[in-house]
Amino acid sequence: MPYAPSPTDRALPPIRINLLSDTQTRPTPSMREAMARAEVGDEQIGDDPTVNLLCERVADLLGKEAAVFMPSGTMCNVAATLAHCRPGDEILAERTAHLIAREGGAHAALGGFQIMPLDGVDGQFTLETLRAALRPPTRYQPPQTLVSAEQTANLGGGTVWPRARLADIAALAYQHGIATHMDGARLMNACVATGVPAREMAAGWDSAWIDFSKGLGAPVGAVIAGSTGFVDEVWRWKQRLGGAMRQAGVCAAACLHALDHHVARLAEDHANATALARGLSRIEGITVQEPQTNLVFFAPSDVALSADALVAALRVHGVLLATMDGRIRACTHLDVTAAMIDDTIALVREILRGA
Ligand SMILES: *Cc1c(COP(=O)(O)O)cnc(C)c1O
Repeated sequence: MPYAPSPTDRALPPIRINLLSDTQTRPTPSMREAMARAEVGDEQIGDDPTVNLLCERVADLLGKEAAVFMPSGTMCNVAATLAHCRPGDEILAERTAHLIAREGGAHAALGGFQIMPLDGVDGQFTLETLRAALRPPTRYQPPQTLVSAEQTANLGGGTVWPRARLADIAALAYQHGIATHMDGARLMNACVATGVPAREMAAGWDSAWIDFSKGLGAPVGAVIAGSTGFVDEVWRWKQRLGGAMRQAGVCAAACLHALDHHVARLAEDHANATALARGLSRIEGITVQEPQTNLVFFAPSDVALSADALVAALRVHGVLLATMDGRIRACTHLDVTAAMIDDTIALVREILRGA
């Protein structure tokens, strides 16, 4: 049950241009050197100096007391809801949120939580929508204990939640005694696109994490931050989920390298996404959502060619992409060049001409 076309399907030509996801980045030679040089220890007993350094840096970056290294972003979301909520609790999130449809039902399976999907535009709900969804506590309704937001909103088109909206949501949740969680899989993209520091984006939010295996280009890892008490709880769940590691400094070294060398360059990914969207929008028969960061959602507007058929036709030419909820998502990253963007635009034009 794959969720995307196989990059290794041997019946097809090799992939020349990989726009499937920013998870497709390969560690650079200098990142691999940093990994080889890493000082390591036993992460599970808090004894890996490189992991500890990474956690200190991310806690500082996000303006929180403490942080913990996790094997994946999904485990950050899962351990966070487990730390914030109790069985039977309700979590509020926008209806396209990763934690609703892309985490294998973990929050229900492991936590016994239910998620209230909020209506939104471009992956974001408003303060008013949240306010309308909040209920005074009663005996017969589930306790509402957590609000979650995705910065950037993946299925929303990589859109950036404005800092003011995030602050207002955190304040409203706080008034109601509800905790707040920021899924920051692409938080650094939002920061680079707007110039707003990460600690300001996450200000007032009880927990926030960043992924290193996406646009930051590391092979594995994510770091979640919050209060010392929250991080202790997350550590407990990380252990229970089997996520505690050993000489994880090898991986943390890649993440530190990414913090030093791969944050500012996200602007290149955003420029490539803008160029892709501009080129595609000039092709008759294609509708494009204007990108704000590194994700470009588009679709054929003509019924003669489906989104899946266009993806299949591009794959034959060595371009890898996938459909997501009916539209095509192209993702720019470290291993995507401006020339590849030009090639992709030309190919789409050619395919539509022949369709
Ligand atoms: C990718 C992603 C995750 C999960 O991160 P992994 O590191 O792939 O487990 C969570 N939320 C969002 C918005 C994502 O895009």
